[in-house]
Amino acid sequence: MSFLKKIFSGEQERSEESVYSTDKPDISRQKSILLYQKALKYFPGGVNSPVRAFKSVSGTPLFIQKGDGCKITDADGNTFIDFCCSWGPLILGHNHPSIREKVIQTVQNGMTFGAPTELENELAELILKHHDYIEKIRFVSSGTEAVMSAVRLARGYTQRDKILKFEGCYHGHADSLLVKAGSGLVTFGETSSAGVPKAFAQETIVVPLNDRQAVQDAFNQFKKEIACVIIEPVPANNGLLIQDADFLTFLREICTQHKTLLIFDEVISGFRLGFEGAAGYYKIFPDIITYGKIIGGGLPVGAYAASEKIMSNISPEGNVYQAGTLSGNPVAMSAGIAQLTELLKMGFYKDLNSKAKEFSDAITRFAATNNYPFKVFNIGSIFWFAFTEREHIRTASEINSQSMDKFKVLHKELLNRGVYLGPSGYEVGFVSAAHSKVDLEKAKRAVFESLDVVFRH
Ligand SMILES: *Cc1c(COP(=O)(O)O)cnc(C)c1O
Repeated sequence: MSFLKKIFSGEQERSEESVYSTDKPDISRQKSILLYQKALKYFPGGVNSPVRAFKSVSGTPLFIQKGDGCKITDADGNTFIDFCCSWGPLILGHNHPSIREKVIQTVQNGMTFGAPTELENELAELILKHHDYIEKIRFVSSGTEAVMSAVRLARGYTQRDKILKFEGCYHGHADSLLVKAGSGLVTFGETSSAGVPKAFAQETIVVPLNDRQAVQDAFNQFKKEIACVIIEPVPANNGLLIQDADFLTFLREICTQHKTLLIFDEVISGFRLGFEGAAGYYKIFPDIITYGKIIGGGLPVGAYAASEKIMSNISPEGNVYQAGTLSGNPVAMSAGIAQLTELLKMGFYKDLNSKAKEFSDAITRFAATNNYPFKVFNIGSIFWFAFTEREHIRTASEINSQSMDKFKVLHKELLNRGVYLGPSGYEVGFVSAAHSKVDLEKAKRAVFESLDVVFRH
């Protein structure tokens, strides 16, 4: 315990154990704790990406040893039905045989060449053939890199500097996008990370989601200065803030009217809502689209794509510079090809999405029957556990931050019942093709029991 106390000197993390009693004993974390102790010596906060540190839930991170299908096993041998799915890439579940085999086959010929390979053509063709509104693509190695490059392209193409983003959307950790709404009537954003120059935030306008007037006002104020409007068409990084289709249509129209480029950041929604992502789902087409997560089949791949006219501005054809030592890496391309090939099979999304909807609806019904202020929002195979009585949550400000205390209990109860959610109440969950009806039935029961514990207190 003294070790845990040392890590969690924050007050929130300490109090909770004594307040909530549980029916289930806590899972053993001995080995994970030892590994975490060691990791703390090597990495800031013991991790290589912040949310993994379990700061907003109980205990310390589980160190994962293996994954198979919808299940993961940690260092202590605990097995969980996994709804984090590596934060989205694993739409086929863990260790899918066709991805594994294709990767092994490619690795046998070497890891990287820094020269073109046929595999890049193959993945590009798989994507472009099924998306009418994009003609050329550039592969990079992460979602952050894809978005950062797309914004530079928009600025280069329009020869304008300002960008407009929405409060409650996450676009990776590029400087211009680590900006949140300013206070009061200030139009410019404030940096949301130390180390981002104020001057950068001045070029980023931040407005609430689903608010036409705010967007209109920004365009009135900065008529010919806005290079791009960037949005997650299905905002899924700060809860699941499903937008009105009308709002997205409005964005399309106002961008066209002002010769501003519309960027859909589909790093999560791409190949998730359907093969054509949110753009295909809403039939609203952006000027530039960004991909990540699913496109790499579990290996690091991102991409941005647009019309030939816009993409011709990228070097070496044009003067917007962007490059990458490992861009289009053959092993990563192989994983992407294998994954996307599976997704194109008949009925894939229909089956997956209906499983996710059934799972989400059953939990929402259970909560309603018991008068628990709790809902599961769902679109495609993305879901979000929300402690709310609202019919919809469309903006960041509608999320009840106090409810995160309840999420903390829910998360712990679920771990004790063999269900793994991402360790933050602001994160969405994913159903993969590997979650069978039986797995989902088990998970549902675990959620019901856990909700009973949460709301009994
Ligand atoms: C995950 C994500 C990113 C960042 O991608 P990384 O691969 O983590 O750099 C950007 N935009 C959206 C919408 C994301 O979900």
